[in-house]
Amino acid sequence: MKEMMSDAFLMEQRQLERIGDLMNLDKNIIERLKFPKRTLIVSLPIKMDNGETKCFTGYRVQHDTARGPAKGGIRYNSEVDLGEVSALAMLMTWKCSLMNLPFGGAKGGICCNPNELSLGELERLTRRYTSEILQMIGPEKDIPAPDVGSNEKTMGWIMDTYSNYHGYCIPGVVTGKPVEIGGSLGRRQATGAGVAYTTRNCINNILNNSKEHYDIVIQGFGNVGSNAAKYLHDMGHKIIAVSDVFGGIYNKNGINIDELLKHIEKTKKVEGFKDSTPITNEELLILECDFLIPCALGNVITKNNADKIKAKIVVEGANGPVSSEADEILLSKNIKIIPGILANAGGVIVSYFEWVQDIQRLFWEEEEIMKNLERLMAKSFNEVHKLTIEKKTDYRTAALMIAIERVAKAKELRGLYP
Ligand code: GLU
Repeated sequence: MKEMMSDAFLMEQRQLERIGDLMNLDKNIIERLKFPKRTLIVSLPIKMDNGETKCFTGYRVQHDTARGPAKGGIRYNSEVDLGEVSALAMLMTWKCSLMNLPFGGAKGGICCNPNELSLGELERLTRRYTSEILQMIGPEKDIPAPDVGSNEKTMGWIMDTYSNYHGYCIPGVVTGKPVEIGGSLGRRQATGAGVAYTTRNCINNILNNSKEHYDIVIQGFGNVGSNAAKYLHDMGHKIIAVSDVFGGIYNKNGINIDELLKHIEKTKKVEGFKDSTPITNEELLILECDFLIPCALGNVITKNNADKIKAKIVVEGANGPVSSEADEILLSKNIKIIPGILANAGGVIVSYFEWVQDIQRLFWEEEEIMKNLERLMAKSFNEVHKLTIEKKTDYRTAALMIAIERVAKAKELRGLYP
């Protein structure tokens, strides 16, 4: 499996081995978790608007299915490759296990820049991708969802393509769909809300809620970052800086997030917002604050900037934003890091609710969904927090210990076929 040996994948493999050693887990079971169960690379020829045909590459990787069908998003980004998708699929296995959802882990992706494609091109790309991975997905097999660069519309097209092939409506094949076609209330804001709930859990359990409000910096202002900002703002905290791909803004007295969201609706970027000073993404990451919440892509806190980070707690809204080397540097500076598999699990939790609702054809009220989301996030946070104290370890290690042990147990119970 040389093809997937990227830095991102090797980093996750090393984490697995480290936890296996630490917990004395059966080496034969760890061996079975080191590589994905199934990977598919597809070629996606698309008729572009200018009449030319362009070929894109798509991936779907199922890391493990010992605890249930594979689950995980589909990423549209020009950095996507087999290594990255495989690393992210492994993280989904741990995330679903940590949240105790009856799912394994998967991830998909298309190497493309969605901002450079028209709506028509995106639709043709999505439908072709769906038809190429059709045999691999399904409500009982593998359930895609949105990730960086994809959204509700994308999920609607996947659901429609899959349903057309089978001849009847199958909403349970993807989650994160529009509510009108079987999506769940609360799914759109779930990941950001979950990040905010996790931050509040840190305030209550780690910082002992000693201040009236906390200073928060958010990097990335897509679906996750903007919703996390809105929830934290509504909780009464001060969002002192935010950024998107074009740049950032800063106001030490706090940014009015409701006003900022209106500004973004008009201009599509945070830049130029009144009552704020411009700041670069690099400057934003090293601001003095209580919480730094990276909500964009992976690998933004690395050995190059980790020693300059001044936050008290880093909450990973994104998947893998802190590299292994940076992890060590931050921990040596006594900065706590709440890993993505705990902090950003709100999305997959409500995806689970969506899947259950689709399969049962029985839909719940938003209030009930958000209450259950908050409850599951708190339960997992408390389990991890307790283990950090018991084992005198950091949050990432504790979270992985719980997650990997559960998956290893499932594999042991199922046995090895043949
Ligand atoms: N892409 C999201 C994640 O990384 C959501 C996955 C899902 O809902 O299946 O957790």
